[in-house]
Amino acid sequence: MSPSSVLQSPVLQSFIAGEWLGKQAGQALASPVNGEVIYHTHAEAIDFGCSLEFARTKGRASLMVMDFQSRASCLRDLGKYLLEHKESLYATSLLTGATRNDSWVDIEGGAGTLFAYASVGRRELPSGNLIHEDDAFPLGRDGQFFGSHILVPRQGVAVHINAFNFPIWGMLEKFAANFLAGMPCIVKPATSTSYLTEACVRLMQESGLLPEGSLQLIIGRTGDLLDRLDGQDVVTFTGSASTAAKLKITPNIINNSIPFNAEADSLNCAILAPDVSADSPEFDLFIKEVAREMTVKAGQKCTAIRRVMIPENQVQAVSERLTARLAKVSIGDPHLDTVRMGALASFEQKVDVLAQLEALLKSSQLVYGHEDGFELLGKGSEKGAFIQPTLLLSNDPDAEGGAHDIEAFGPISTLMPYKNIDHAIALAARGKGSLVTTLVTQDPEIARKVVPALAAWHGRVHILNEASSKESTGHGSPLPMLKHGGPGRAGGGEELGGIRGVKHYMQRAAIQGSPTMLSAVTGEYVRGGETYESDVHPFRRYFEDLRIGESLLTHRRTVTETDIVNFGCLSGDHFYMHFDDIAARDSQFEQRIAHGYFVLSAAAGLFVSPGEGPVLANYGLDTLRFITPVPIGDTIRARLTCKRKIDQGKLSPKGEPQGVVVWDVQVTNQHEELVASYDILTLVKKQFV
Ligand code: NDP
Repeated sequence: MSPSSVLQSPVLQSFIAGEWLGKQAGQALASPVNGEVIYHTHAEAIDFGCSLEFARTKGRASLMVMDFQSRASCLRDLGKYLLEHKESLYATSLLTGATRNDSWVDIEGGAGTLFAYASVGRRELPSGNLIHEDDAFPLGRDGQFFGSHILVPRQGVAVHINAFNFPIWGMLEKFAANFLAGMPCIVKPATSTSYLTEACVRLMQESGLLPEGSLQLIIGRTGDLLDRLDGQDVVTFTGSASTAAKLKITPNIINNSIPFNAEADSLNCAILAPDVSADSPEFDLFIKEVAREMTVKAGQKCTAIRRVMIPENQVQAVSERLTARLAKVSIGDPHLDTVRMGALASFEQKVDVLAQLEALLKSSQLVYGHEDGFELLGKGSEKGAFIQPTLLLSNDPDAEGGAHDIEAFGPISTLMPYKNIDHAIALAARGKGSLVTTLVTQDPEIARKVVPALAAWHGRVHILNEASSKESTGHGSPLPMLKHGGPGRAGGGEELGGIRGVKHYMQRAAIQGSPTMLSAVTGEYVRGGETYESDVHPFRRYFEDLRIGESLLTHRRTVTETDIVNFGCLSGDHFYMHFDDIAARDSQFEQRIAHGYFVLSAAAGLFVSPGEGPVLANYGLDTLRFITPVPIGDTIRARLTCKRKIDQGKLSPKGEPQGVVVWDVQVTNQHEELVASYDILTLVKKQFV
């Protein structure tokens, strides 16, 4: 490294209590591409008491003046802003040794997670800051004592301790969920690549979109932060199993029952099923997937394939095909377009990976790689932290240790031959819990047998065959809508998974009380609760004017044989229960009954207010149940009650402001028995934007 680069390299800053902190140089951070010092951490100490206080007061207050819907919009806008400025992030990301392809997952994958959570918020969360988790259910006989569950934002701070391999995605996949839930966060990225996280936080801050105190950044270590947390806080960790184990038992975390979600290193595997022959498309897919997972991010992915399970009779074919593919991977300075695999993220990582490789070689043979003087592209790259993709073959997959226990966090995988599919399942479980596994098979019967066994040990099971291959997002990509995290060695934690990820930052409480009380608390009408009726039809009211519990009891209608015949002819549904007197008599209903869909349509005819009005569209119904049959001669009526209102801040295609209104519908017969029950979903015009 040149002395001038040491002097000139900028000092990174923490973002604490609304201020950028740090002028004096601390630890030097070297580029893994050529060894030059590129940044320094800052030497100034962080006042974590002040940081927590700021998050708990300012951060929480600024998030609580918003609601799920407005925070979802904010996530979308932040995602757009990051994409507009992504090139500056790509430029910085090259310094971590990542190719553009590698960085795509980190940068655009990170922004994509913000978009995904924006859409989770809009589609699945209500207005306000409380989730009513399940429909209230009666606990007593007279319908005046109900139970249900609610979730409210935890009143503390989410502390995220992240790994070095995804400096942006690692932050955003956690931030998106805690932000939507309404919790401020303090992010501590791994020091070695913290300059890229800092660049991203700067952009987010400059966007003007971040509510005050909602995101703070630590460059360097966490000091006494974990000792200062309390029972409303949450800690998430991604990194090594040993650090996870150490931090998890911090006395303050145990004493205050602070949730600690860990995602640690895991010995993921891919299984080539015995039905796949070497000349089938699935065989090629398997080779491609393994090679890709070994080389993307230079194998520094928590999801990378470390153990490659193959039938004993395929060892030669797999070794040859994988070797040929790996030999084509050009390695070197990621600034060059021709480079397919970049450097490890730091020199410390290179030392660590080479040590683990030596340990693996005690129980395996070298198939490809680990050569002295392998070809490197780019000036100065001989001084960088590069490692050649290296393929090993296990001497005895049943033996203790080896690739079942040792993780080399780089482009290194071990072939493990198996005797039959039960043997493969047993070997997969020897990883003691992993984030993900891929099963490559053409046979649905094999999938049916193998996947449930794999699911007990793996957070995600990816089944790959020719049919899914074009659209497959791949073994190594955690998706925002699917859970990420695995049991046992993988840390035992869970992240993402759509709405599930948000709930990690919320507190669940069971609530009990009368329907009116539960309606008041949840903001949702609970059957049996107070209703409000007036001369104005609820469909004639604008979104803002509708009250939860506003209700309409319709006039009655007697169902005739003509109704059934007309509906059958109109719909073409001549099911015997409606048209065959003899078969209907032999059925459990002992007579002909009206179509369930006729009852639905007739109910709509009873409760709809036909004139042009604020109700703009009916876009579906939920929770439909036909409860009591309606024979010819029964008389039905409907009760329509405003159950839930969601203001998504959206406009109709014609530019009119609108909100979602969910209506509870109960159709009853002349004995007051419930005939049909459902929610209808409508879009209702707002008077104001
Ligand atoms: P570490 O477990 O050492 O570090 C992970 C994070 O924890 C970093 O932010 C690190 O900060 C922080 N940390 C470490 N010690 C403490 C502490 N005492 N108090 C507070 N924070 C702490 O993992 P590395 O990033 O060094 O990677 C080591 C190994 O972990 C890899 O070789 C790989 O096996 C595994 N790994 C697993 C990943 C996964 O996603 N499951 C991802 C990355 C790595 P700092 O950087 O400042 O030390």
